[in-house]
Amino acid sequence: MSSTLLSRRDLRFLLYEWLDAPRLTERPRYAEHSRETFDDVLDLAERVAVEHFAPHNRAADTSEPVVDGGRVRMIPQVKAALQVFAGTGLLAASMDESVGGLQLPHVVSAAAFGFLQAANVSTAAYPFLTLGNANLLLAHGSAAQVDRFVRPMVEGRFFGTMCLSEPQAGSSLADITTRAEPQTDGSHRLFGTKMWISGGDHELAENIVHLVLARIPGGPPGVKGISLFIVPKVLVGEDGTLGARNDVVLVGLNHKMGYRGTTNTLLNFGEGVHRPDGRAGAVGYLVGEPHQGLAQMFHMMNEARIGVGAGATALGYTGYLKSLAYARQRAQGRPVADKDPTVPQVPIVAHPDVRRMLLAQKSYVEGALALVLYCGRLLDEEKTAPDPADRARAHLLLDMLTPIAKSWPSQWCLAANDLAIQVHGGYGYTRDYDVEQHWRDNRLNPIHEGTHGIQALDLLGRKATMEGGAGLELLLETIRATVSRAWKADGEAAELAGQLGTAVDRIAAATRRLWGSGDPTLALANAGVYLEAVGHVVVAWMWLEQLLVADAAGGGADADFYAGKRQAARYFFRYELPRTGPQFDLLDGPDRTTVDMRDSWF
Ligand SMILES: Cc1cc2nc3c(=O)[nH]c(=O)nc-3n(C[C@H](O)[C@H](O)[C@H](O)COP(=O)(O)OP(=O)(O)OC[C@H]3O[C@@H](n4cnc5c(N)ncnc54)[C@H](O)[C@@H]3O)c2cc1C
Repeated sequence: MSSTLLSRRDLRFLLYEWLDAPRLTERPRYAEHSRETFDDVLDLAERVAVEHFAPHNRAADTSEPVVDGGRVRMIPQVKAALQVFAGTGLLAASMDESVGGLQLPHVVSAAAFGFLQAANVSTAAYPFLTLGNANLLLAHGSAAQVDRFVRPMVEGRFFGTMCLSEPQAGSSLADITTRAEPQTDGSHRLFGTKMWISGGDHELAENIVHLVLARIPGGPPGVKGISLFIVPKVLVGEDGTLGARNDVVLVGLNHKMGYRGTTNTLLNFGEGVHRPDGRAGAVGYLVGEPHQGLAQMFHMMNEARIGVGAGATALGYTGYLKSLAYARQRAQGRPVADKDPTVPQVPIVAHPDVRRMLLAQKSYVEGALALVLYCGRLLDEEKTAPDPADRARAHLLLDMLTPIAKSWPSQWCLAANDLAIQVHGGYGYTRDYDVEQHWRDNRLNPIHEGTHGIQALDLLGRKATMEGGAGLELLLETIRATVSRAWKADGEAAELAGQLGTAVDRIAAATRRLWGSGDPTLALANAGVYLEAVGHVVVAWMWLEQLLVADAAGGGADADFYAGKRQAARYFFRYELPRTGPQFDLLDGPDRTTVDMRDSWF
């Protein structure tokens, strides 16, 4: 099957020629798998994406969910597609066999899920959230909670959400006020309002398992007093039977720019509309220990952040493939060197400026996919590397890369969608082509799961300084290892290695200068520029890695494919990496312009 969702050839290159995913099958966890089973999973995901997710992508956008008599109504194709997906068992692709999973490497399941995100990101959001929810409970829930809530999620009978945000507390979770009152039977009753909850209400599943951050009265203020609770929409008996409605109610749906097929909700907990055991209050079950909620939620958020980067990549990727197909068939204008109006017009792909827009997209989306899959591979290393030191190393590197894997694709694959619209000309601005929807859908990604600004604070404020700077040092050392290999490879790779080596040194110098200022306000005022500069250097590294593989592969029947990889790497180093020069100059200051700006001067 060949679709305009993701390129199978590129996935083969990344998974097999670069990341050597089949090698993972030498490890006990993945011993049941082989390259053939990986290919089967990719085939299956692509088929489900093409046949069941893509066909209603536009309908989910134009006929968004509505509330009707207190119930959410949406187009039936969403439920039908999700039932097909549940039947594939792919939701639990990476989970343990003991809970019904396939124990597939993360790097492969991330690639497979990418097809669904590219085909229809709003329908894919329901299993995406459910998976994150289930993985969190597998890590921190009790065995009984896993039986009661995770198993039905794995079977596709229950869906999950994550309820962090409140109307007054989005980026600042320290300020949440939802409270959880302990009950004599060990459960809690929750009272409060949660805003922006994706998948917060619908009739796609038998039940919805909300994971809710709330405060137990008397706990410490700020993030140290936040606990995590399971709050099902419908109460579940110990034997798994569904009981009464819990006291969680839908106040309304938010009407969004994109991602419209995913319900986005304002939910009230404990309003007294439903009264379990005759009393107001949403019944909730504490996960793990009290006051550990944010740390536990980070388990889900880190996974979700890489998943957001993957979703942004998928949207950028499909937009690129669609604009490429368009550019090959749209005839317009003639070459500069031959303007004879009596000869037919040429396809727009013949114009260098259109090729620039396509090359930019190619370098963003294939660079982002490489980064996202590299992170998936690190997750597999973290879980299964035979040497504990390698596991610890993978964990640290992944922690360091997470804000970049979330933010870089969210920024640059959105830019790719913008270029995909531009390649379509006026047609791109209409709703007759998919690319405008991809852009609107993708516009969410720099906002949710921690905004771009919050990721920047995370990278410079926490990750670059954690463990005395060990995470940053590891990242730079890992990039330098690629630089050394490229030096030895000689030729163009060595030339690009010189550029990358200089950029890596500039990251180290900028970090020292920023924190050396002794003024955290000044340092963190530059966090956004730092995130963007480091992100570009990291993706340049991804491109040098790909160039080395392409150079080693030579050509043969796939000569054009490898030439395309080399040209995109060249493009990234010539057009993109140099953008970081002025950014590092600012960081070296460190620049004070934003700090010195006064509110009254606007
Ligand atoms: C479609 C959609 C789906 C969502 N799904 C969910 C969900 O399922 N569950 C959930 O819990 N939440 C969800 N969210 C909420 C989302 O995570 C928040 O919108 C996001 O965290 C930002 O919070 P906010 O909207 O309150 O913006 P604010 O926090 O008010 O931020 C506004 C601006 O100020 C900046 N800013 C804020 N604080 C700082 C600071 N300290 N330093 C520098 N800059 C700062 C931000 O970067 C941003 O640019 C969703 C949001 C949307 C739009």
